[in-house]
Amino acid sequence: MQEGFVITEGVACAPAVIFKNDPPTVNIVHISPEDVEDEITLYQTTLERTHRLFLEEKNNVQSVVAREFLDVAILYLTDSYVKKLIEDRIRNELCNAESAVMRCYHDYINELISLNDPFVMHNEFEIHNLAETLVLELRKKKVTIPDITEDSILVCNNITPAQFLTMNTQHIKGVLLEDGNTQSHLAIVLRSSKIPAIFNVSNATKLIAPGTNVLVDAYANRVYLDPLDELIWQANKNAQKYHKVSESAIDIIKPMMAQYKTSSDGERMRILANINSISEITKLAYLPSSGIGLFRTEFLFMNCSHEPDEEEQYQVYRRIMNMLPSNYEITFRTFDFNADKLPLYMSMSSAFSVDTNQHQRKTLITQLRAILRASAQRQIRIMFPMVAEYEETKELIELYNSVKQSLTSEGHDTGRVKIGIMIETPAGALMSDSLAPLVDFFSIGTNDLTQYTEACSREAATHRNDELTPAVLKLICLTVKNARKHHIPVCICGELVHNLNYLALFISIGLRDFSVAPFYLNKLLEKIHELEVKIDLNLEAKINAILTKKEIINLNNSLIAQNFGHSGIID
Ligand code: PEP
Ligand code: MG
Repeated sequence: MQEGFVITEGVACAPAVIFKNDPPTVNIVHISPEDVEDEITLYQTTLERTHRLFLEEKNNVQSVVAREFLDVAILYLTDSYVKKLIEDRIRNELCNAESAVMRCYHDYINELISLNDPFVMHNEFEIHNLAETLVLELRKKKVTIPDITEDSILVCNNITPAQFLTMNTQHIKGVLLEDGNTQSHLAIVLRSSKIPAIFNVSNATKLIAPGTNVLVDAYANRVYLDPLDELIWQANKNAQKYHKVSESAIDIIKPMMAQYKTSSDGERMRILANINSISEITKLAYLPSSGIGLFRTEFLFMNCSHEPDEEEQYQVYRRIMNMLPSNYEITFRTFDFNADKLPLYMSMSSAFSVDTNQHQRKTLITQLRAILRASAQRQIRIMFPMVAEYEETKELIELYNSVKQSLTSEGHDTGRVKIGIMIETPAGALMSDSLAPLVDFFSIGTNDLTQYTEACSREAATHRNDELTPAVLKLICLTVKNARKHHIPVCICGELVHNLNYLALFISIGLRDFSVAPFYLNKLLEKIHELEVKIDLNLEAKINAILTKKEIINLNNSLIAQNFGHSGIID
């Protein structure tokens, strides 16, 4: 069968369960003025019922990630601003509830996008989905989620992470999706549950009949229907070979991390982990990594019903630090809330309120105090997300210094802290020469850098966001060059790093720190081990001349082929 792109590697073979989730076609009906109140009541009772259903579902699901998605859905559902828009529309335009719902949420999405606020940019897919759910509820029609009681391969045209997580995932051995995006929430959920998955398998729900035995070889990016035993055996054998290599990589981690140097400049490569939760930390005990390159702290407090105070946060950060050896580097990123990562306690209306900046400043002070107190006796890194401007960076550093000073004057012990910023906007990359002298390190966030450079949301299927585009490559290259010029370390995190096709190129432009999901640490280590690495002096001019994505791959391949024959520093 025609393949798509691999989200999570692995091999699985089981009968197919088909889940077709076709969007409802909305009926636009004009109503008479005397029916207005009935239509509004229909909308209100449906809203209440859906809200209750979401709350029940939230109580029933085990997964924290699933609960987080439902929390976000509830926030949009109960947003009083949209509720009023919908009721006004029914009243003023004399239209039926389902068309008012669909059009209001559509306008709402556009409004959020036009605000250009990173806080709300990512969630258009979830909001759209919510509107469709409401339309079905208005018709009292429900999406039937298949009850999966035996090991199965889930084949779908479209599925939300919340729908996926409400299924019995322990029996889902593999996933094939017709659509999808490598950076979508579903991809993140699948990666964290390690379920072999391939996206963009065209017409999968049409070509595969329910119950067909499906072999998903998400190492080789192949899908086979009714495979012969020999084929299944071969795919599993290849998978075992892969696992063996991974295990031996763990054995070589220590000597390799200590000795691995580029032959020209003697720089050490570091592989680091992207961590979102405390439970993921336990995985690090048996995985090779030089530290945590990105701790997404916002995920720690997603389920809090109130904003966590300093003491509550202190206890959580202390626990994390106690779990890891004192020489193990942890990079705490301060809260990076946006609409797809909105904690339960933060309603959309508060996100838009006038005192947002003031509130965010207070939140940041509380978080910095908690992290600094918890880091007493050790060295840590703190980094600020979404930084784009020079003044903003200076203000953040000043804020950090004043927090540190007040803690010291209150008699608190604080750790040795390196302060860095994420370069994840085109503005940040273009300003990197001026920003580098202000901070101790950079970390390039390719997820946001891609969406803001290419003007495509994370959920948009139009771009594969694990593909490097010429513009993004140029911004990465510029950032690395400026970091090196000012002698500060620069790390790269974000889903793009999981595409190992660019690793030779990244190393050649001077990147030395790579931060990836725990699941990818072994693989990255193996690949780094394979490559002989030097910085290429001629690369900047070549990169500046690149026009297409294909040329990027060619350049990467030519670097591998020439075995890094030239050495030197990029600037
Ligand atoms: C990024 O933007 O690349 C990144 C690593 O941060 P997040 O995915 O949490 O926005
Ligand atoms: Mg980001």
